[in-house]
Amino acid sequence: MPINIVVCVKDTPESLGVSIDPKTRHVSHEGVKTAINPFDEYAVEEALRIKEKLAGTTTTVLSVGPAQAEGALREALSRGVESAVLVSGTEFAGSDTYATSRVLAAAIRKLDETRPVHLVLFGKSSNDGSSGIVGAQVAAWLGWPSAIAVKKVDSVTDSSVAVVRLLEDGMDTVKLGLPACVSTIKEINEPRLPSLKGKLAAKKAPIQKLGLADLGLKAEEVGSAGSLARIASETTPPARPAGMTVEGKTAAEKAAKLVDILIERKLI
Ligand SMILES: Cc1cc2nc3c(=O)[nH]c(=O)nc-3n(C[C@H](O)[C@H](O)[C@H](O)COP(=O)(O)OP(=O)(O)OC[C@H]3O[C@@H](n4cnc5c(N)ncnc54)[C@H](O)[C@@H]3O)c2cc1C
Repeated sequence: MPINIVVCVKDTPESLGVSIDPKTRHVSHEGVKTAINPFDEYAVEEALRIKEKLAGTTTTVLSVGPAQAEGALREALSRGVESAVLVSGTEFAGSDTYATSRVLAAAIRKLDETRPVHLVLFGKSSNDGSSGIVGAQVAAWLGWPSAIAVKKVDSVTDSSVAVVRLLEDGMDTVKLGLPACVSTIKEINEPRLPSLKGKLAAKKAPIQKLGLADLGLKAEEVGSAGSLARIASETTPPARPAGMTVEGKTAAEKAAKLVDILIERKLI
């Protein structure tokens, strides 16, 4: 039996050279090139693989973010996901993971009204906020079972999913009744690249837009008003000093020079 899958994807800065807004203490996205969060590519790929196994399965990507986040959604569409939903609005600015997960859960409930959602997939973490907890938080808001650090989807039916989790000292397999939330890790698969046809189709694909009013949430439940965390301080790491090149005709010559330098600097 086919299932309906939602994949949560975040639009994040492409480069790690981001700045911190001194007023809000948040990562500034101003003038920064963004793309689909790399860890979310694995969740998208897994959804596509399940779709290939279970004929008739549908896949939807969902993002909470500014208009720019359309780029991440289109990237997923170009790989074969059929539909995309963007939750956007000024009310959502300043959301911490608690508020973000609440918004994602409300959007999933909204989608569930028209087509039952069986499985929600997440990446391991975002490459900017990097909390790694939004998947579990969404599950808590929905009251659904959840598994994190999933490295393999063993089997999936319309009523359950069996997944292999990577633990600190090994692995285990857990079976979750559907609907459920699953956070994937990069060991799960090798994401495919989009085809040219997929890229062209994704450019023109419609993106469903949802705002606060559509989700049945109040303004005080989202954004900074609906957040529990306050960032006390945040700094960017100091720029790395430039490296040095050890010149020499042969590897042995370079190695000897390197040893001299290390001795001179009392590093060995
Ligand atoms: C007080 C405070 C205020 C903040 N204000 C802002 C702000 O104004 N603007 C801003 O951009 N960030 C803001 N942030 C950061 C923002 O809260 C987090 O980036 C966001 O909640 C997700 O957390 P994370 O990136 O650590 O996600 P993680 O928990 O690391 O993400 C895990 C997975 O959840 C999914 N996911 C995470 N976020 C989203 C999303 N937005 N849409 C879809 N799927 C998602 C992805 O699958 C991802 O791989 C703020 C943080 C704090 C603490």
